[in-house]
Amino acid sequence: MSSTEPTVEPTTQNEPAPAVPKVILSADQKEIFDRISKNENSELKLRLARFKQSVDFVDENGMTPLQHAAYKGNKEAVQMLLDQGADVNSGKHEYNYTALHFGALSGSVDVCMKLLLAGAKADAVNTIGRTAAQMAAFVANHQVVATINSFVPIKDIECYTKVQGSQKEPLLPVVHLDGFHKFIMQINIHPVRIALNLQKYGLFIEDLKRIRKVLDEMMEREMKRRNEINEVLAFKYHYLGYMVNEIAKCRDYFLARKDKAEGSNGKDQKSDFVELFAKRVLKQGKDGSLEYVEATIRECVREFPFRECTVFRQVVTQLASKENPASALEIIKAAINGQRGFQDTISLCSSCGEEKPDKKCSKCKEVQYCDRECQRLHWFMHKKVCARPSSTTAQGGPPAKDAKKDIDSAEISEQLQKLVAS
Ligand SMILES: [Zn+2]
Ligand SMILES: [Zn+2]
Repeated sequence: MSSTEPTVEPTTQNEPAPAVPKVILSADQKEIFDRISKNENSELKLRLARFKQSVDFVDENGMTPLQHAAYKGNKEAVQMLLDQGADVNSGKHEYNYTALHFGALSGSVDVCMKLLLAGAKADAVNTIGRTAAQMAAFVANHQVVATINSFVPIKDIECYTKVQGSQKEPLLPVVHLDGFHKFIMQINIHPVRIALNLQKYGLFIEDLKRIRKVLDEMMEREMKRRNEINEVLAFKYHYLGYMVNEIAKCRDYFLARKDKAEGSNGKDQKSDFVELFAKRVLKQGKDGSLEYVEATIRECVREFPFRECTVFRQVVTQLASKENPASALEIIKAAINGQRGFQDTISLCSSCGEEKPDKKCSKCKEVQYCDRECQRLHWFMHKKVCARPSSTTAQGGPPAKDAKKDIDSAEISEQLQKLVAS
């Protein structure tokens, strides 16, 4: 859809806008607003099917149907309007709120993702100079903040599907563009979720070493941007690449063992290196910490090549801090997705760390999971405590704090030493 459409506007900036702009809506337009306000999706669908004009009309507040649907956090209605050709950046709201601002306020990650994919401008500001992500942070919609901040337009990664320089074939086959795109935008960076997402997005058929190569190149690119270096994204790509490599090693090990065992056992084991990897990740040490994750993240941080940047220094300081009770995973989660403003007590999937999972262990009802698969992957640990009435499960430490403390290079290298030693 065209991004600019001629509409009636005040002729000059200085001309005072009438207090209540005259908007005369047709009966059809009124009905569309009405259906959206009541979340009547099937009626809205019928109405839209018969509506042949542009859906970028506005009500007396200068809001389009898409903006209303976004504000309601109604992802189906948002999708219908986008399918109908709604312009995601259109609107005449008196405080310059965009559909993305409204989606951010609604707290719906799905709505924000749909708007971003449709080309919503994440840097658009309202009349008080705030972006959608800043508005989301203001109302503590942290998942939305992370979603907007980690969004990457698909055209930014299309170059990896083309043959470059002396390559014989592109790093990323074009069939995996969509899957890879979703993979890099994931905000849950728990190692188990990374493995499950590689599976979900069909990337396991791909050579994981090449996936890592793309992530490395993306990291370099973020650090070499001329005016808008995004070191947090660079760090995220480094971390994802590192974990992809860990998962690849686990798969190689699994396949080598499986080859040996072939013949003696014909059991279908199509993706069970994910289980093997999950067992490494979720195995708790005596103090309840995830030893493999702690060690692997420290190793991963050590290998980050851009040691001058703030995100690296913050993470190293926090990992080395004796007073900081947060786990390594909590520390890098905060570094990549932003700090949570206060200590929320949100439930997490005991397997992959996804927020607000909607399933519970049916036996003890004390641990939560996204689905059956997450439960299966965690069972080897959970079976030891399941059904014990007063068992408590460790969910990692509280969010990291005191990120802003400045430290000099001597301190950094000293802390790196400690990190290497530990
Ligand atoms: Zn899960
Ligand atoms: Zn249980």
